[in-house]
Amino acid sequence: MILDSLRTILAGKQLLREEIPFELVDSPFISKRSGIEFDKKGRAHCNRCGNSDPELFAVFPCARCGKRDTYCRACIMMGRVSECTPQYGWIGDMPEIVAAPLKWSDSLSAGQQVASDRVVEAIVRGEELLVWAVCGAGKTELLFKGIEVALATGKRVCIATPRTDVVLELTPRLKSVFPSIKVSSLYGGADDRHQFSPLTITTIHQLLRFYQAFDVMVVDEVDAFPYSVDPMLQFAVKNARKESSSMIYLTATPSLKWQRECRKGKREFVTIPARFHRRALPVPESVWCGNWEKVINKGRLPAKLLKWIEQRLLAGTPMLVFVPNVAWITKLLPLLQTFDGRVESVHAEDPNRKEKVLKMRQGEILLLVTTTILERGVTFPGLEVAVLGAENRIFTESALVQIAGRVGRDIDSPTGNVTFFHNGKTEAMLKARKQIVAMNIEAKEKGLIDE
Ligand SMILES: [Zn+2]
Ligand SMILES: [Zn+2]
Repeated sequence: MILDSLRTILAGKQLLREEIPFELVDSPFISKRSGIEFDKKGRAHCNRCGNSDPELFAVFPCARCGKRDTYCRACIMMGRVSECTPQYGWIGDMPEIVAAPLKWSDSLSAGQQVASDRVVEAIVRGEELLVWAVCGAGKTELLFKGIEVALATGKRVCIATPRTDVVLELTPRLKSVFPSIKVSSLYGGADDRHQFSPLTITTIHQLLRFYQAFDVMVVDEVDAFPYSVDPMLQFAVKNARKESSSMIYLTATPSLKWQRECRKGKREFVTIPARFHRRALPVPESVWCGNWEKVINKGRLPAKLLKWIEQRLLAGTPMLVFVPNVAWITKLLPLLQTFDGRVESVHAEDPNRKEKVLKMRQGEILLLVTTTILERGVTFPGLEVAVLGAENRIFTESALVQIAGRVGRDIDSPTGNVTFFHNGKTEAMLKARKQIVAMNIEAKEKGLIDE
């Protein structure tokens, strides 16, 4: 009995002793891997998170072994891994994965169907595939068929994402289309971590507790911070996959390196160039507004931006105005609030962020001044967006494509204005526009938009 429970908890994992809520029994099926190893030159390496940066190790007097132990600081938020800390896993038979019929009666758009077929193919063959789907294409549904096929062939599936919000959004959707299986949802503070499930939806951080677990790994928003810049998270994904497994990446905005690899035929990819509602993506306009910083510092609003905002306040159009950083929110917000009470702001550290987004959705707020924190994941019907200071380097090509991607998502208001207010066009602005135009052309050629 106890061995059954241990199997459920340990299968495909690498856990510290304190993460196992049972007595450990002696069993040939329970494996132990050391947490910290040293190479010939005496350099430490953390087996859990892949860290080998000497600066990210420290020494402490260990109560368990009585020695001075080296421990890893890089993954300390998941509990301390030190020299004498083994990571427990399971090397016996794995719990069985059984077929789970997909319960979903809607249909895929033509673009989604093409991508869905490719996903199935990649899963059957154990290959890697990038799904490059424009913002608003509907990328969750195109995974459904692939997941069904994977489960039917005894494959364990994981969907990993950099953001907790996405885990919370995906979990109920996948539970509803696969009602016959347990779907695990993992993020900081979630309590599903002791179950074994054929389908796991998780933040990438939580993958640090997995080891060679998954036959199919889907990484959503592969270009998003912090995954794109954090080697630990990339290691976690690699470590959590089985050696022979398939890998599906989803993104609306692949990095320049990946875009190049796609063009040169060095990366398997499929595009969904059109949204499910079959209307073209809004193409951003650029409006030069001179030295806007100086104008605002004098306590005035740049005239062209003011006009853009006034027209929309009159029409009752909800707006997001993106600025380069919090300092500009502080300066811009009081200027805007003097002539309309329906203006608010949000940024990463704002404790009322969720409430304000909700108020915006309910129409109580008409304009939110924001940092790039709202570049992804938010949908407001009828929204239009402006970027002030679009020349700032925080507005990368992908940030600008994501920002433009907030507009026209709703089937009832599938178009809308996107304006980049700037003091000199940048490469990123030009490339973002080019990427959007190219997707529209491709969509038209493939008959995926009506116009
Ligand atoms: Zn570590
Ligand atoms: Zn020790």
